[in-house]
Amino acid sequence: MSRVIVLVGVIVLVALAASWLSGNPGNVTIEWLGWRADTSVTMLAFLIALVTVLGAIGYRMWRAVLLAPGRFFQARRTRRSRRGYQALSSGMIAAAAGDTAEAQRQARKAENLLEDASVTRLLRAEAAKLNGDASTARRTYEEMADNPETALIGLRGLLDQADERGDRAEALRLAEKAHRQHPKAQGIVRRLLDLQVEFGQWDAADRTLSEAVRHKTFPPSEAKHWRAAVLLERSRTAERDGEVAEALALAKQAHQLDGARVPVAVQFADLLHAQGKTKRAQKVLEKIWQLQPHPDIAEAYGALFASDTDLARVKRYQRLLSFRPDHAEGHLALAQAALAAQLWGEARAHLGQASERGVTPRVCRMMAELEEAEHDDGAAARGWLERATTAEPDPAWVCDNCGAAAGEWTARCGNCNTFDALAWHPPLHTPRLTQDAPAPALPASG
Ligand SMILES: [Zn+2]
Repeated sequence: MSRVIVLVGVIVLVALAASWLSGNPGNVTIEWLGWRADTSVTMLAFLIALVTVLGAIGYRMWRAVLLAPGRFFQARRTRRSRRGYQALSSGMIAAAAGDTAEAQRQARKAENLLEDASVTRLLRAEAAKLNGDASTARRTYEEMADNPETALIGLRGLLDQADERGDRAEALRLAEKAHRQHPKAQGIVRRLLDLQVEFGQWDAADRTLSEAVRHKTFPPSEAKHWRAAVLLERSRTAERDGEVAEALALAKQAHQLDGARVPVAVQFADLLHAQGKTKRAQKVLEKIWQLQPHPDIAEAYGALFASDTDLARVKRYQRLLSFRPDHAEGHLALAQAALAAQLWGEARAHLGQASERGVTPRVCRMMAELEEAEHDDGAAARGWLERATTAEPDPAWVCDNCGAAAGEWTARCGNCNTFDALAWHPPLHTPRLTQDAPAPALPASG
């Protein structure tokens, strides 16, 4: 648009000048080095315009001749890089499809055609990996790790290789390095966290998670849940080191982040009680009990009133049961207290209530205890103990990853090292004896 305006402006100016010149005719005489030329002003203006136009055309032609070789090489480079990128993408597809020979062929082609080695290295590394050439892959990943643009891919490749070798310390070192360079890369944060957990580096894991929360690397609810687990482990460590105040502060923080975690609430309540804040501890336990009745809560609740008489403790558990009368745990906890207080009728009634919700080995063992204590009935007790071996298993802390059961909740599975995998439910693969199972054959006697 603006060019049109300029052009129109120039034409108008030329027309004005021509009309002015024709209205004001005159002669020009040039004398120079003994030469003399006479002409009109109009002719002189025309000659100046002609020289200007010819000069401009000449300049353009001269430039075109001068730049031709450059243009030629530029076009050649563009063609080469286009073929290079084609080889790169064909190679990537071949690598993804597992065609080792084709991936390697295309990798060599791409490296010959492309000037930027950083983009071809990944294909070279993938092809080497497919070919089982770990040392070439490793060298290539190291080259990539040294280049800021490809450092993350290089470090991830090295990290995968360390994982495959089972070199956990090297994996941790690489994950830390990758995390320093790319603190927001979600995959790296998760791997670093897992490794820190595996090595029991709870303080470092907490720092990693806090930073992830700041960067919004994970959904906030998930990050809070995880941090509560890590803070619980930090609290336990501080408690073991005799730093009770620190342990309490950490447990409190964990409880604030995730008020529905049973082991966190139990740790918080234990520490509150140890500092003489029994009323507050009781509130914490009663609140979590309402969410999820659990034997660990019942045990911690009993510990708050260790100096009570057996009878007084029965009253405490009656209160606890009143919050969740629908749940077997309350009946079991009360039955246990009643057994200790020799209130046989009360114990039997609540064991009956609990068994309506499932006759588990725990119910069987308590029934055996009751038969023995109340009636001195060894046969009935043995009957219950026998039944315990075939009953549906009690819930336990079970790893969602490997299925191993644990006596106590920990943030890391003691069997497979998975972070935050223990959940409270019946063991997954408990071998069950059924009546249909054939009896093992006895060796023939004689
Ligand atoms: Zn596990």
